[in-house]
Amino acid sequence: MNLADFLKYRTSCPCCHKSLKIYLHSKRTQTVKLEDNLISFMFSIGKLTDKYSFDWNNSYKVSYTINLLTNDFILDFYTPYNELLTKVDLVLLKKFHKLNNNLKFYKIYIACEKCSYNYQSNFFKMTSDMNIGDLTMKCEFLQLFKQVKDGYQVFQISNYYDLNDSFVEISKCSEIQYKNNDLYNVLDPNTKSITFNNILKYSSNEDLLDLIDKLILFV
Ligand SMILES: [Zn+2]
Repeated sequence: MNLADFLKYRTSCPCCHKSLKIYLHSKRTQTVKLEDNLISFMFSIGKLTDKYSFDWNNSYKVSYTINLLTNDFILDFYTPYNELLTKVDLVLLKKFHKLNNNLKFYKIYIACEKCSYNYQSNFFKMTSDMNIGDLTMKCEFLQLFKQVKDGYQVFQISNYYDLNDSFVEISKCSEIQYKNNDLYNVLDPNTKSITFNNILKYSSNEDLLDLIDKLILFV
């Protein structure tokens, strides 16, 4: 599919309803601009004289602009003062190659601004054919909660569209952990992990939790 269709899959988070952010590759520092049918992702490639540096304000930048309809892309280079470079010197190109080799495999990564919800495309390479290829949905991650007597049941659901299966981890967290969104520290020794041999279809949080409750009976 083209990038426009990929972005239409969801425009807000199904778990907390906040808006979703678009990234290229990962949550690595980048500036993203969406205008008409073009989206650009700007990455730092460091200073010209020093070694590779993550100093965003003093760095030269490379921008990948992808056409949402054709998946074609172009590269542009900018000075630390955000001026477009019409001529790119060899040192800058070498720096770009280094970055491109480090990043290696790219993907379109769509993530919630607030919670851990995300969905991701297949991996692709940014190569000289100047097209990212047909995009497919690779995976989606949701985290849902169900209130129980002494806290919350946590459902971490990973849908792997490329493998056509879903992996669910069910654990428990306290009221305080839930309120503080402190779920990376949930280390519940009674965590249950279940793999389902199909994708758990999502219509609403309640329906999905009901479906999991029913399917668990057969596991
Ligand atoms: Zn969310």
